[in-house]
Amino acid sequence: MGKAKIIAFCGIDGSGKSTQLKLMKDYLSKDARVLVAKLEYSPLNKMGDNKFLDLILKAYSGLRIISYYYSLQHKEAFDYDYILCDRHLLCYLAYAYAYDASHLNIIRDLLFMVDDPDMTFYFDVPVDEALDRINKRLVKTRNENVDTLTKAKEGYEQAMKLFKNVYRIDNNLSIEESFEEVKDKIKLLRK
Ligand code: ADP
Repeated sequence: MGKAKIIAFCGIDGSGKSTQLKLMKDYLSKDARVLVAKLEYSPLNKMGDNKFLDLILKAYSGLRIISYYYSLQHKEAFDYDYILCDRHLLCYLAYAYAYDASHLNIIRDLLFMVDDPDMTFYFDVPVDEALDRINKRLVKTRNENVDTLTKAKEGYEQAMKLFKNVYRIDNNLSIEESFEEVKDKIKLLRK
């Protein structure tokens, strides 16, 4: 088998990315080698008051993100059949828009270094529904409020135009219905 197919799961917090990714991992793992890839590093948390330090952090964050996806594509891709990415460049651009974090625009300039995933799923869910789901979760992070999620959703609409092979999944569907749609699309890659 050749290089892994790279599949990205994107959407605002609470949209159901992790849920669908896990289902897909179990489904594909029956007869293929699957890597789940998640960039834990969060560049948005470390910014402070020092302009010079922030500038370094900006460049560093952008490069960290790009080099992570670059290495997935050039190293890990040879050891697996599928790489499922929990978030991808699309998500970082969407959140850059939400936070007015212009530093992440360095990613846009460096996009040419990383191929688009073979397939990207964007789980499109209304903000109030996403928040409802998040509020049922025990651990919360700072992104999860109406304003940020609304802006992130706008950011996704903008950033989606920059990527190929993005499928919008209406995640107002039940978990099972969404997974059926995702599975249907994945079949296109398996042929
Ligand atoms: P994300 O990874 O995008 O933040 P999760 O997959 O963690 O979202 O889902 C957030 C919560 O919403 C979880 O408790 C999950 O069980 C629930 N959930 C996910 N998809 C659906 C769905 N289609 N309908 C109802 N609840 C869902």
